[in-house]
Amino acid sequence: MTYTSSKVAIVTGASGGIGAAVARRLSADGFAVVVNYAGNAAPAAAIVAQIEAAGGRGVAIQANVSDPAAVRRMFDVAEGDFGGIDVLVNNAGIMTLASIADSDDVLFDRQVAVNLKGTFNTLREASKRLRDGGRIVNLSSSVVGLLQPTYGVYAATKAAVEAMTSILAKELRGRDITVNAVAPGPTATNLFLDGKPQEVIDRLSKLPPLERLGQPDDIADAVAFLAGPDGGWINGQTLRANGGIV
Ligand code: NDP
Repeated sequence: MTYTSSKVAIVTGASGGIGAAVARRLSADGFAVVVNYAGNAAPAAAIVAQIEAAGGRGVAIQANVSDPAAVRRMFDVAEGDFGGIDVLVNNAGIMTLASIADSDDVLFDRQVAVNLKGTFNTLREASKRLRDGGRIVNLSSSVVGLLQPTYGVYAATKAAVEAMTSILAKELRGRDITVNAVAPGPTATNLFLDGKPQEVIDRLSKLPPLERLGQPDDIADAVAFLAGPDGGWINGQTLRANGGIV
């Protein structure tokens, strides 16, 4: 679907996985898209090239979301390039699994820095700078419902994201801005696949009644719904997109 407006979306962590699928989908829906990345410039540039080849507008902007100054600069560049910002998709995230007993300080601090502080940094900026009528979509995870062993720190960061989602929705009263979260289940990206033996991947793939792994485009569909006109009455909610796993 192509919307007639020239709305602008920032997608964090859009150099690969779910974020790249979201960036391509929002571009196809008519948004100019900021493809944010942390370290992998070449894949981010490739996503922008795909967007432009399809007739869209995109720009790759490096910013570590855990750095508030870098996030401010990203918003500055986006406003300079495109004239304003309408949609923020907080997709950047990392996951390291360990029991709480085996979680060291580095594991805890890194996941809190990217998943929680990173989301906070962009939400704070967006709450001051998004144009009225805008949309915010945060990526949570269905592990907040599943609560499996070894997901303690990661799930805690995502539970915090869900709490901020509902609170910011209320704080933005009067601006016509919705704030929601999408909580994927197991999805075929590096974050999920890396380091897992094939039998674990096979077992987790069979968990949902739909009996397959989610694909990045499955999640992009849910994000696009919340970022587009059809999702306009959904606000402060977490939508689990996981094939029925929980
Ligand atoms: P990937 O590991 O495939 O991609 C992560 C993306 O985030 C990359 O583009 C990476 O950029 C970027 N990124 C990482 N750290 C930072 C940072 N500090 N600042 C800016 N960008 C950063 O992950 P997924 O696509 O799987 O995950 C996307 C989101 O979905 C995450 O929030 C994740 O928690 C969530 N999720 C994923 C699930 C899954 O099964 N895959 C399930 C539930 C939730 P670069 O390459 O430049 O480092």
